Amino acid sequence: MLTVYSIPALESNYFWLLQPVPEKPDAYILDPGDAQPVLDCLRRHQLNLAGIIITHHHWDHTDGINDLLAQFPVSVYGPDSQRIPQVTHKLHGGDTLELPDLQLDVLAVPGHTLDHLAYLHTDSEPTKLFCGDSLFAGGCGRMFEGQPEQMLASLNKLAALPENTLIYCSHEYTLANLQFALKIEPDNKALTDRLQQTQQLRQQHLSTLPSTIALERRTNPFLRCHLPTVKAAAERHAGTLLTSDADVFGAIRRWKDQA
Ligand SMILES: [Zn+2]
Repeated sequence: MLTVYSIPALESNYFWLLQPVPEKPDAYILDPGDAQPVLDCLRRHQLNLAGIIITHHHWDHTDGINDLLAQFPVSVYGPDSQRIPQVTHKLHGGDTLELPDLQLDVLAVPGHTLDHLAYLHTDSEPTKLFCGDSLFAGGCGRMFEGQPEQMLASLNKLAALPENTLIYCSHEYTLANLQFALKIEPDNKALTDRLQQTQQLRQQHLSTLPSTIALERRTNPFLRCHLPTVKAAAERHAGTLLTSDADVFGAIRRWKDQA
């Protein structure tokens, strides 16, 4: 049974620490943007770092790698990207990452960056998705490097996962994302309910993660670009007709960037 520890760090990040077997101390850290919170979590739970897994090259996902390697000379699994020189095992979409007691399916999800990977754990129920800055609770990452068609295809790939899949993304952006989503779908009851629950959680400084694919499909506008209401809101804001789902996606991504 996979245990997932949440490590809140930096301004808004979560690093996820995965312990595949409760009786064994070996654990894998996903996207360590800073070493110290990871070391603290390992010590607190008497765990041993067995490997490092990376979704993409941004500093808040990678800056802790060197300090961790200084104490734990482990392998680093991640994208085939020159921008992450510490990666020892280069991965691509369609690969399976086989680690002792831990198997992860590797998904290519370009858009936020071109080298972005997501990792899917299907051996536990429900399935667990570690998706970095591609899909967020109530939103998605900024499109720094990709094109709308590409990023929407990545998000649609994730949206097609089983509805009860748990989503472990890398930032606590849920409240701001849902406040933006409400501008697009003010009459979406699932969205207004979620916003209220999220406000209560954040007032108590509690995490809003993990989310689920079902909840995202009901409330995340970036997964709802095919719906007439979302298209109409994007057209009103852009002041132009939008012909494809990718155009709608691009328009609401730009809208969010400027919000
Ligand atoms: Zn990023």
